[in-house]
Amino acid sequence: MRQQLIKAEKLKAVEQMGAAISHEIRNPLTAASGFVQLLQDDYLPRQKRKEYLAIVKEELLSAERVIQDYLTFAKPSLESLEEINVKSELRQTINLLQPLANQNSVEIHTDFSIIGFIKGDVQKFRQCFVNILKNAIEAMPNGGRLSVSTEFSQTEVTITVKDTGEGMTSEQITKLGEPFYSTKGKNGTGLGLMVVYSIVRAMNGTIRVQSEVGAGTTVKIKFPTINSLIQEKQIRQH
Ligand code: ADP
Ligand code: MG
Repeated sequence: MRQQLIKAEKLKAVEQMGAAISHEIRNPLTAASGFVQLLQDDYLPRQKRKEYLAIVKEELLSAERVIQDYLTFAKPSLESLEEINVKSELRQTINLLQPLANQNSVEIHTDFSIIGFIKGDVQKFRQCFVNILKNAIEAMPNGGRLSVSTEFSQTEVTITVKDTGEGMTSEQITKLGEPFYSTKGKNGTGLGLMVVYSIVRAMNGTIRVQSEVGAGTTVKIKFPTINSLIQEKQIRQH
């Protein structure tokens, strides 16, 4: 009974979130199309035309950001459960973000242990690390070092993402994962970490954030390995 109640509450929360997010996408699109309509006026002064075009561009970018943080890898279909090659997925995600890193003069270093697998939805895994790595790079607008490393034990994999960026106060750390919490003004959505936290939870993982203002941030994510899942199953079967 209680379990069901929790499930119903969760579903409601997800629905509300979905509504809030479509709002975040629809609002800028509505604004953009309003300005496009104004732009159809043949007698619009040149200066106004430029101004409106800039607004349209900004509004479209804003919708794009929400989609990137929330929907890049989300599929409308049911979640799939597959074996995830942690190392190769992380490499691909890093490649995807290399242009952003170059733009910010961020050097990326990797230290990956032997190949290891976890079980989960690979699209969500990618979304999770795009959001974490993007935050790390965005925390270093004037350059820095981003290190990504993995460690495997019998039972779990630990993925560590470390940046030398602006860091956070402990008060800021407690706010992480709250929907729409962002310190980036119009350049932020405040959805990236909410998505990360919910994916990590869904994959039975844990996430820990350590940070120091002016020094940088370390994010540690742990997931159970396939080995540990097999062992658990065997124990349950006995
Ligand atoms: P957004 O990136 O759109 O602001 P997120 O949910 O991804 O939203 O992140 C929320 C906030 O957490 C950011 O605005 C930033 O203040 C803080 N943050 C997250 N990651 C880092 C990091 N690596 N270094 C410093 N601050 C961070
Ligand atoms: Mg972000």
